[in-house]
Amino acid sequence: MSAITLLGPAEIRALAERAGVRPTKTLGQNFVLDAGTVRKIVRQADVVAGERVVEVGPGLGSLTLGLLEAGADVVAVEIDPVLARLLPQTVAAHVPGLTVADADESRLAGLSDADESRPADLADTAPHPAPSRTVVLRDAEGRARLTVVTQDALTVTALPGPPPTALVANLPYNVSVPVLLTFLERFDSLERGLVMVQAEVADRLAAPPGSRTYGIPSAKVAWYASARRTATVGRAVFWPAPHVDSALVRLDRREPPAATVSRQDVFAVVDAAFAQRRKMLRSALAGVAGSSAAAEQAVRAAGLDPQVRGEQVDVVGFARIAEALGAARPATPGPGTVAP
Ligand code: SAM
Repeated sequence: MSAITLLGPAEIRALAERAGVRPTKTLGQNFVLDAGTVRKIVRQADVVAGERVVEVGPGLGSLTLGLLEAGADVVAVEIDPVLARLLPQTVAAHVPGLTVADADESRLAGLSDADESRPADLADTAPHPAPSRTVVLRDAEGRARLTVVTQDALTVTALPGPPPTALVANLPYNVSVPVLLTFLERFDSLERGLVMVQAEVADRLAAPPGSRTYGIPSAKVAWYASARRTATVGRAVFWPAPHVDSALVRLDRREPPAATVSRQDVFAVVDAAFAQRRKMLRSALAGVAGSSAAAEQAVRAAGLDPQVRGEQVDVVGFARIAEALGAARPATPGPGTVAP
């Protein structure tokens, strides 16, 4: 493993220039230039050799190489076809013994070369579900070390190969929260995550109830995992340098709150509670409950004061409210039910 070299500033720029990559803001393309930052992310993710890790947005491959250096097998999902095509070549040049074993070009039907030339154009059409393209790099023993999937991460419903146990990514900032929630929802094999996001988003993800930054992302992520901000990352480690600071967030999967209603029902209450952040729950939830009296009753039944605001309620509280609303809602008459 020690033979792997990570990417540095000169190589990142040379790679981009050779491939004609001009980073676009629309796709959140800020590439990490610093091997120290990459190794810190990998270390904080507790990646172990042989573990299957999913990376969203591998870009030019800085973090991908760090994950491979730690011995992980990586499945990388990249929306930009130019970057996705470049990645196997970059990785093959840096990781001795890896070769491109199979490329599923058949799923490329409908994606012409012209579609692949300009990432900026891609942004206009994103999110676009299909087509996707998969390339696998294997070692001498035939083990799949890197699988590159060209697709919008928000549309990925299944990943090739063994289920990943960790999500490790420098997430595209404009879609970081939806990507995170989508992956936690769709891939319950994920036990851990270590993501780099905008510092302000990191605060929101990790915020406890009652804090100024607590909101929809905090409550929804808390359904799936505990979230902790672990480090701040300055702008100088990126090319191009973003206008905001970044931070690392560690996620550890936990059991969702036990509830007799669905996650969607609970999330609908969360959305309503924060849609009017400054309002007390009995008013904010009037819409979903049918009236403010019904909302007040549900909030009381959940053991909470109807005068509290959403920002003071944890995910378990939202689950209790959703249950109380579900119990109060008249059951839909089933087939054979005789109306009174
Ligand atoms: N991992 C690389 C690094 O650390 O240098 C690049 C990170 S860059 C912040 C975000 C990457 O996500 C870019 O490569 C971008 O093209 C990709 N991306 C943006 N939106 C995406 C989406 N919806 N699905 C998959 N990848 C996406």
